Amino acid sequence: MNDPVISLRGIDKIYTQGVRAQVLFEVNLDIAAGEFVALVGASGSGKSTMLNMVGLLDTPSAGQVLIAGRDAATLDEDERSRLRREHLGFIFQSHYLLPDFNIMENVFLPCRLRGDPPSGESWTRVEGLIETVGLSEHRHKRPHQLSGGQQQRAAIVRALANQPRLVLADEPTGNLDSQTRDIVFKLMRDLSRRQGQAFLMVTHDASLATEVDRVVTIRDGRIVDENRP
Ligand code: ADP
Ligand code: MG
Repeated sequence: MNDPVISLRGIDKIYTQGVRAQVLFEVNLDIAAGEFVALVGASGSGKSTMLNMVGLLDTPSAGQVLIAGRDAATLDEDERSRLRREHLGFIFQSHYLLPDFNIMENVFLPCRLRGDPPSGESWTRVEGLIETVGLSEHRHKRPHQLSGGQQQRAAIVRALANQPRLVLADEPTGNLDSQTRDIVFKLMRDLSRRQGQAFLMVTHDASLATEVDRVVTIRDGRIVDENRP
């Protein structure tokens, strides 16, 4: 049995700035290697808060986040960023591509930021991903020259460029029309299968949530259902 790529154990989150508010209650979640998990729940139920815990972007008030066999609470900020870079990819509702850089430059930006010029091997792999998502002929264009769906596909390639074990996606199709949404979702699903990458995808869309390995439902900060379609 492989270790999960991430484990949440008894996570509570209490925001203490302003009014004290508990947003997560005893959340337990293991994600297996290569597993595609949809996280669904009403607005304000705690989905983004939970994703921030998994992404080591915020710290829980109680409980443990285990990543790569380590308890995130024992890591200093440098180690947390290293684990984030090496194990995690992020896709958000808005793509956050930088307007002054072309698509290839945007995709390699995370590598360059960590002082890691792309090797021939990573260049070949990323060109392959760009082709898979249908952006080959657009790869030297700047983001504003692409449609919303094309920009989001570029953001997916950027998240996958360093072969993370787990990709976190917060409503990645939220800004897309329904046809583009289906294309982008299928792409993430196929890439996950092909590359063995686990996904945790927040979605409002019940129809997308039927084509995943597991649907985790959160209500008022508690996991209330874990359905395997
Ligand atoms: P979702 O992503 O499911 O819409 P969120 O995780 O963003 O929900 O938010 C869950 C709850 O936590 C909401 O009531 C929200 O107002 C509250 N919340 C989120 N971030 C903060 C924060 N930084 N400080 C205080 N409350 C917050
Ligand atoms: Mg949210």
